[in-house]
Amino acid sequence: MSRTKSHEIFARAKHLMPGGVNSPARAFGAVGGEPIVFERGEGAYLFDVDGNQYIDYIGSWGPMILGHLHPAVREALHAAVDQGTSFGAPTERENGLAELIIELVPSVEQVRLVNSGTEATMSAIRLARGFTGRNKIVKFSGNYHGHVDSLLVAAGSAAATLGVPNSPGVTPGTAEDTIVLPYNDIAALDQLFEQHPDAIAGVIFEPVVGNMGCVPPMPGFLEKIREHCTHYGAVMIMDEVMTGFRVAMGGAQQLYGITPDLTTLGKIVGGGLPIGAYGGRADIMGHILPAGEVFQAGTLSGNPLATAAGIATLKTLKETDPYPKLDARTKTLEEGFKAAAAEADVPTVTARVGSMLTLFFHNEPVRCWDDAAKCDTARYGKFFWEMIERGVYLPCSQYEALFISAAHTDADITKTIEAAKQSLAALKK
Ligand SMILES: *Cc1c(COP(=O)(O)O)cnc(C)c1O
Repeated sequence: MSRTKSHEIFARAKHLMPGGVNSPARAFGAVGGEPIVFERGEGAYLFDVDGNQYIDYIGSWGPMILGHLHPAVREALHAAVDQGTSFGAPTERENGLAELIIELVPSVEQVRLVNSGTEATMSAIRLARGFTGRNKIVKFSGNYHGHVDSLLVAAGSAAATLGVPNSPGVTPGTAEDTIVLPYNDIAALDQLFEQHPDAIAGVIFEPVVGNMGCVPPMPGFLEKIREHCTHYGAVMIMDEVMTGFRVAMGGAQQLYGITPDLTTLGKIVGGGLPIGAYGGRADIMGHILPAGEVFQAGTLSGNPLATAAGIATLKTLKETDPYPKLDARTKTLEEGFKAAAAEADVPTVTARVGSMLTLFFHNEPVRCWDDAAKCDTARYGKFFWEMIERGVYLPCSQYEALFISAAHTDADITKTIEAAKQSLAALKK
């Protein structure tokens, strides 16, 4: 496969943008080599600037659950463009998207639209603090909630101690108000709430982690977060930026039957355009300006194009209910990966929830970041490039879940499994 044009464009990009990219996840830092520069996407496929075709398992990191260039989304966007692209004033489409979110996401009574997942989580934790009058936010290591200062925090040396910054530019003062716990660790959660019964404003978490590879919650873990938040008066913030409209129409909260106080959304809710949203209990949402006093604003929030794409995506999901099919196809892929790894004698484990899947290069189940950190990431990098050469575009990191869209066919899955067989066998050479 030749990628001469990709190489040339990226060489220029490196002079123009830090690292040549506008977001580090796409820079291929975790797999080595240079990112591929794309020209267009259609259905389950991406086409690079050199004319190579790939089956896409990133889906823009989640949003493209209907596949690229879905006719309904395309038509909605064309119609919206012809009416003007931004007014900074109320539009009816904002009601349309808000109504769909409130209808589909079980716990959401009121919602505020923002422009990214990061904005949604940042605003939700501010609201949790404003609502409770408390300072501390609890998060779990290996969970990602966007680049919010106070969430770019790693665990301190002892468990359940104050967080420490994990990026230059995040001050120790900011990090101090974040407490980091291991994911799926119920005992650590119990202990923390006992130690700080009155200090915790909220707990933010991924209900199925997608940002250390796919890591499902263990039985009882989500229930325990709910129980403690209720008992101690902390706000339960379910970060469904990735899982919302992905693992089920109503997100992970519907799949697991857990009702959070606040939910953050992004990715699919914008259908491939920049949107985020946060919503939940009306009595908490009522504290947001101008109904209440917690400040949060946005010049482009509720943008006509983004709401048009979001409405078209959610409506199509509602009308077509692709979830059983997505689940079945992803299961086939998971089983294909397992069989291929066994045949090639490469130690791996898989984890899957609906159409989120990860093939971990590790020989034990991954339940938390300490487990995930033991994966053979160099081997994943080799596997990634072997798959690229066979026309399959997987996440460019061991620590990202792959996604299947409604546009992926059985033939795409079969082809991908065949590619995986050859790629895993090639790792042994
Ligand atoms: C992607 C993601 C975010 C951040 O969303 P952006 O739109 O990239 O700012 C937050 N939380 C989770 C769980 C995510 O997967």
